[in-house]
Amino acid sequence: MKKIALAIHGGAGTLVKGMMTPEKESAYKAALNRALKKGYQSLELGSSAVEAVELSVKELEDSPLFNAGKGSVFTSEGKHEMDASIMDGKTLNAGAVSLVHGIKNPICLARDVMDKSDHVFLASKGAMEFAEKMKYQLEDEKYFYDELRFRQWQEIKDTDSFQLDHSVNKDSKFGTVGAVACDRFGNLAAATSTGGMTNKKYGRVGDSPMIGVGNYANNKTCAVSCTGSGEFFIKGVVAYDISCLMEYKNLSLQDAAEEVIQNRLLKIGGDGGIIAVDAQCNIAMPFNTEGMYRACKSSDVPGYTAIYKD
Ligand code: ASP
Repeated sequence: MKKIALAIHGGAGTLVKGMMTPEKESAYKAALNRALKKGYQSLELGSSAVEAVELSVKELEDSPLFNAGKGSVFTSEGKHEMDASIMDGKTLNAGAVSLVHGIKNPICLARDVMDKSDHVFLASKGAMEFAEKMKYQLEDEKYFYDELRFRQWQEIKDTDSFQLDHSVNKDSKFGTVGAVACDRFGNLAAATSTGGMTNKKYGRVGDSPMIGVGNYANNKTCAVSCTGSGEFFIKGVVAYDISCLMEYKNLSLQDAAEEVIQNRLLKIGGDGGIIAVDAQCNIAMPFNTEGMYRACKSSDVPGYTAIYKD
C-alpha cells in the first residue's frame, strides 16, 4: 500500500504549560485523538483525502472545545457566524462558505458547495439559501451556547474590540480547526472551519474560508490549513505562499512552511500556525505562538498529539 498521512489542528495561541488543569489538557488531547482517528482510519480503508479531512473536521466541529461548529464564539450581536472551506488538491476544486448560522457542520456545507454547485464561495444569506436547498436542518442557538464563550463575549461586548479566540485571556479556549491529508493515491486535501473572532461585526470574515489564504491544496505542492490572526493571514496570502515557495523555489515542505510562519508572517505582525502535508506524506506543523493544538499520523510517523512547544 502507498503511504498515507493526516494532520489536524484545533487552533494556535497563548497556550502555555501549566495554564490548564491536567483534566482540561487530557480533554483536548482526547478530542484531537478522536478526530485524528476518524480521518486516519478512513484513509486506511481507502477513502480519499477529501473524505478524510471532512471527517476529521466534522468531528472537531462537534466538540464544544474548539471555536468551530458547536464551540463557535459569539458575534457582537450574541450570535454565531461560521466560516469553512475545503479543497481537493487533485482537481483544484474547492468549496467555501462564510457567515453561516445554525449549521451544525459548516465543513459539510463547504463540501456541498464544491461538489454540488457551480461555485466556489457562497456567503451569508445566499449560503443559507443554498443550505436550505440542500435540506440542511438548522440547530437553534442553544446548541451553540457555551458558558465560557458567553463570558468571553460579555467582557468585550459593549466595546469596539474584537478578540481572537487565541489571545489575551490566558484562561480562554482556543480554536479554529483544520485537517490536511495525503491519501494512498498521493492526492492531497485541506479543510478548515471556524467561528471567527469573539465580538466580530460588520460581516467580518477571516482567512479560514478563503482559498489560498487559510486553506489550500495542490497535489503538485502541498495541502495547508491555517489558524491565527486572520487579517494578517489574508495580507500574507499564507497558504498559497507556502505552496508557491515549493513550486517556484523548490523549497521542501518544512522549509517553505517555516519561512512563511517564522519569517514572513511575523514580519507583518501576524501570529498563528499551520499544518501541512505533501504528496510524499511529509508533515509540517510550525507555529509562532506559545502553542498549537495539533496531532498527526502517517505511515512513517506514529500518532502524535501536542499542545505546547516541544
Ligand atoms: N483564523 C481565524 C480567523 O481569523 C481565527 C482562528 O484561527 O482561530 O477567523
